[in-house]
Amino acid sequence: MKLHEFQSKALFGEYGIPVPRGKVATTSDEAYAIAAEIGGAVVVKAQVHVGGRGKAGGVKLAKSPEEAREVASKILGMTIKGLTVRQVLVDPAANIQQEIYLAITNDRQAGRALIIASAEGGMDIEELAVKKPSAIVRLHIDPLVGLKVYHANNVVSAMGVPREHYRAFVQIVQQLYECYIKSDAELAEINPLVITTEGKLLALDGKVIIDDNALYRQPKLAAMRDLSEEPESETKAREAEITFIKLDGQIGCMVNGAGLAMTTMDMTKLYGEADGIGPANFLDIGGGASSDQVAAALRIILSDSNVKSVLINIFGGITRCDDVARGILVAYDEVKPSVPIIIRLQGTNAAEGRALIDAAQIPNVVSAETLTEAAQKAVEAAKKAM
Ligand code: GDP
Ligand code: MN
Repeated sequence: MKLHEFQSKALFGEYGIPVPRGKVATTSDEAYAIAAEIGGAVVVKAQVHVGGRGKAGGVKLAKSPEEAREVASKILGMTIKGLTVRQVLVDPAANIQQEIYLAITNDRQAGRALIIASAEGGMDIEELAVKKPSAIVRLHIDPLVGLKVYHANNVVSAMGVPREHYRAFVQIVQQLYECYIKSDAELAEINPLVITTEGKLLALDGKVIIDDNALYRQPKLAAMRDLSEEPESETKAREAEITFIKLDGQIGCMVNGAGLAMTTMDMTKLYGEADGIGPANFLDIGGGASSDQVAAALRIILSDSNVKSVLINIFGGITRCDDVARGILVAYDEVKPSVPIIIRLQGTNAAEGRALIDAAQIPNVVSAETLTEAAQKAVEAAKKAM
């Protein structure tokens, strides 16, 4: 789960990292009031879950409250990389002498936290990694050892920051690490971390991503979720405890188990690719899916107008195919889908499940024995509807 910049910086502040004391506005008049309260120059910043807002025109300096109102009215309502700006952060403007990059991320391959730092911030870190990889410092942290003072010292000395700021940087590395660990973050990034012309350090931008699987023990952070930033279908899926990711294809997939779901998507692609047909989503209804969840899943899949056929592929292990079949029938009654549905049930109580579906004699429902057959039928049905 991504946090907004203002949320990330408030979180950093709780760990002692110096951050500007700005506020969020949803109207240009509010931006005016905040700028007037701050006094002096401010920076008005679009709060959307994407990077590169600066280049997209979503970060603007304003010298007076009037100017803050003017730029806020331009930024509010703007679309940046497909996301509409609904709120702006109004921060006191900083006088920047040097921009630094500092982040802690999860290195899955190493199974460790990775500190990434560079005294040549301001540029995208991806760009810097290509143009001047030698300017980037990397250090893995063993989770059992944790971050020791010498680790932070090593990072800061390798970065080559000005001598007089050495201690302050070491402290920020420690604070950011503590924030990263205690927040169950996958990423805690400050870009830029600046040295101001007054000689102070300040985190001007913040990006934090929290591990979704840890949200149950991070209620304060979980409450910061901004629903307007994600597709409605994904919100509905989360409420029903279904793992769902929207994609661009035409075949809605309802599968139990992540591995089987991926295989199912691959199969639709294998048989459909030549005709530009592929999966409309990843969907895993999980182990012991109830008929309620099956119904919710079907509703979510069918809310996508791109969907031209639905492929239900269930392997009954703990999940019993007859339960799934009952769920499908309940959902069918509620949703009354007009697109063809191809159902493949295998495993525990598959015969009973199939018998239930057959007995219902619902139109547009086709059953399949093998995954190949099911995928081919789903592709055929989608092709006919296109
Ligand atoms: P991003 O483009 O989404 O990463 O947004 P940032 O918050 O990092 O802002 C982009 C750039 O705007 C920064 O790298 C700075 O150069 C500039 N900027 C942001 N805040 C200030 C500020 O308070 N004063 C000045 N002078 N520049 C700023
Ligand atoms: Mn930035």
